[in-house]
Amino acid sequence: MEAKIHRDMFSLFYSVWQNPNTKVHQMIKIILAEANSNSCTWAVNLDHIYKMYNLENPLSCLQRDPPEKSIFKEYILTKITAFHEKEMKDLASSNSKMSYFNVNLFGLRGKNHPSLSNIISIEDVKKARPHLKLLTGDYFTYESKFIQTGKGTPTCKICQTESESICHIVANCTEYNQVRSRISTEIKVLCIKINLQEINKIFENSSIFTQFVLDLDFYSFLLPICCVLYPTLNLNSFLFFPTL
Ligand SMILES: [Zn+2]
Repeated sequence: MEAKIHRDMFSLFYSVWQNPNTKVHQMIKIILAEANSNSCTWAVNLDHIYKMYNLENPLSCLQRDPPEKSIFKEYILTKITAFHEKEMKDLASSNSKMSYFNVNLFGLRGKNHPSLSNIISIEDVKKARPHLKLLTGDYFTYESKFIQTGKGTPTCKICQTESESICHIVANCTEYNQVRSRISTEIKVLCIKINLQEINKIFENSSIFTQFVLDLDFYSFLLPICCVLYPTLNLNSFLFFPTL
């Protein structure tokens, strides 16, 4: 919403910039040159927004001819997108719930995250829900409930062997051994087909296996196989969590 408002402000400024023989143009020029930086005027507010996006000073813009509208529009869109993209990625990197979600390979103007790539029907949306909740840390495990409230116990209610974390559900809970084995076999077959030597790393470590299931873009050694795996491997096939 903030970005949309700023885009509208830049668009309005461009209209002023394009019309140097108007009173509005002259007034904005005077305000930008003389007004105090804590002024509440539209022009000074615009000046602050220009600084926020690290753009050229609007006053110096008005002292030369404007660029083509399409060039200005694309330039502004790129700057606004880059700013908010960085802000959101910084927030995601410091958010403990986003530990499995690799946001660095995706932008606000690029393709969707692969976890959304096979969602076409209403049924697909239902199937994707548990995966997306686990991927974004939005699924409340007994461990996270215990950490947040200090009440109850973090132990998994199904297998009673260890704390119920997302990693436990995906990689360790004995309740899901059968379905985990089926999926592991499916992955191994795919990786052998493309001669991936490092495939064993995925199965040697619970944390890596969890990461692989939830977001296989996370590990750089897996990147070369993503383009081969994604079209073949429906991520919804990982949804083996009947209790979710
Ligand atoms: Zn368990």
